[in-house]
Amino acid sequence: MSLVATYPPAPARRLATPRLIATLALFALCAAFFCAIAGMVLVRQADDRQELERRAALLGAIADIRISGTDVSALDPQIVRGLERTAGLKDLRFESEPVAGDREIQSVLDRQGRIVGWFSWEPDRSMSQALGKLRPLLLITGLCLIGFAGVALWQVRRALRDLGTSERLAWTLAHEDMLTGLPSHRKMIELIDAQLAARTHGEVVTLGFVDLDGLNDVNDALGHHTGDQLLVAWAQRLKDVLPAGAAGGRFDGDEFAVVMTSPDAQAAEAGMTALAQALARPFWINDQAVQVGCTVGLAHAPIDAQSRDELTRRADLALRAAKRKNRGGVLRFKAAMGVEFGDRRFIERELKRALADNTLDVHYQPIVTADGATIIGAEALLRWNHPVRGAIPPATFVPVAEQAGLMGKLGAFVMRRALTDAKRWPNLSIAVNLSPLQVRDPALVDFVTDLLAETGIAASRLVLEVTEGVLIDNPDEAKSRLDALHALGAKLALDDFGTGYSSLTYLQRFRFDILKIDRGFVAPLGREPNSQAMVQAIVTLGRALGLTMLAEGIETEEQRVLLRLAGCEEMQGYLFARPGPREALDRLLADTRPAAQAG
Ligand code: C2E
Ligand code: MG
Ligand code: MG
Repeated sequence: MSLVATYPPAPARRLATPRLIATLALFALCAAFFCAIAGMVLVRQADDRQELERRAALLGAIADIRISGTDVSALDPQIVRGLERTAGLKDLRFESEPVAGDREIQSVLDRQGRIVGWFSWEPDRSMSQALGKLRPLLLITGLCLIGFAGVALWQVRRALRDLGTSERLAWTLAHEDMLTGLPSHRKMIELIDAQLAARTHGEVVTLGFVDLDGLNDVNDALGHHTGDQLLVAWAQRLKDVLPAGAAGGRFDGDEFAVVMTSPDAQAAEAGMTALAQALARPFWINDQAVQVGCTVGLAHAPIDAQSRDELTRRADLALRAAKRKNRGGVLRFKAAMGVEFGDRRFIERELKRALADNTLDVHYQPIVTADGATIIGAEALLRWNHPVRGAIPPATFVPVAEQAGLMGKLGAFVMRRALTDAKRWPNLSIAVNLSPLQVRDPALVDFVTDLLAETGIAASRLVLEVTEGVLIDNPDEAKSRLDALHALGAKLALDDFGTGYSSLTYLQRFRFDILKIDRGFVAPLGREPNSQAMVQAIVTLGRALGLTMLAEGIETEEQRVLLRLAGCEEMQGYLFARPGPREALDRLLADTRPAAQAG
């Protein structure tokens, strides 16, 4: 299977009919013109023949006169008129000398064979004369028609050529990605179909979706031109490292597809892994090294899927799962991912109903001081108790809400409920999670402003938690929106620090107040070597940047002590309290000593 797309047959062949018609029209015009000339010649010949017949009739009449003994040279004018009528001649005259001019003449001999005179008459070429008058008109018309047909033929040829060019261009656009020259989405579909059709018994057709990680970072840091250069270099390397018999193309934006036929699934996965490793090596662009990673999701036919549709859907599911759990790795489709897909539609439908019926809830998890003695805030966490399925965790339904365009409503519901409930706890800060899609909404700042005014909650009590994903998709827009929220007086927290890109540049560029160390760093504390050093490094860095350090997911006293030793000021986790309804927080606050007035 070749990477280079084969072009379609020359379009001119398919468009031969108009050309043939134009050529035939030209031939018909030429034939008509030549017929007109031939007609004129024939008319002329007919005139000549009639003239000969009239002359023969005159000669016959003269012979009769001679036989009757009449002297021809002394003909009575009456007889000349009679001859004129008999022979059908015009203006017949008898003269002793031949007349000059364009009259026809016929000599008359006496019995001794001497010329005694001349008959002359006006030639009658009425048909030729009539046609002769029309000749210039016919000539001009003929020439015009020939010229017109020539121009028409030239136009047809030009149109055919243009059509051919634009058809080839359209074909190229449809089959080839303009930037990278790789087969396009459509061409890849054809190539997948071809490999599936050519698969023999025992062979495996593997479709891998390869996602280029970090292209946005390159675009932001080095400009879109460098991003394009990177894509071109990346595509060239993809071509270079494709295993024999494999085809690769650009599927969508920074997503590429590779399809290959292998003897078995292991060989295919080894091939995909080698390909991903080769693509993850740095690129040298404009005298600088550019490092981007790639994540691969793959599925095999016929093991994971029978049809092309199923294969692409399952490879896509594998890629989405890999991007969530195994960024930078190669992940094969698993049946559980398929269930997720079926679930998604159910969740979307039921979530819409829950929003309409107002059956969603918000729970609160306390945030405490490092000694665990004082509750200083609470994080609002969305809860959904489905009548049949029971509790569905936000990690399951929040991504579905994002994809289904429900995040705006969901986020607004949580924010309104949290700020309304916060009136019960005047000394606590209230933390609300913001999805990247909410941050992208230009109406967010006004919505938060209005809600603060409506509930009377001081902006300084509101903590907005965002994850690193918010910063990556569209950093400029995210920055201006977060700056605007900051300007209101709200605090900003970077949630789940350490699980995403963890780029230190984000910490410098965005003005966060709080850094939430992810549970992934907290859980190994006391169990794994270096875990303490890691947490220590994060806390030192955060504090150097003037951030309040908050650790989440603390479940043991040992973790609390180690984090406190590292310098962490605020904590959250099951050790202190699980998330619960507002009444549970009411009770907790009643049981513990009130915190110092927070304002
Ligand atoms: P998050 O913002 O990092 O929230 C903390 C999560 O850790 C919560 O899970 C909480 O129940 C859990 N957690 C707290 N302490 C412990 C602990 O000691 N051990 C363990 N194992 N887990 C602990 P939850 O409620 O399932 O939420 C998961 C994620 O869903 C949240 O992570 C947040 O990213 C998202 N989420 C929840 N509510 C909302 C919301 O209203 N809006 C948005 N956009 N996202 C939300
Ligand atoms: Mg959070
Ligand atoms: Mg978190």
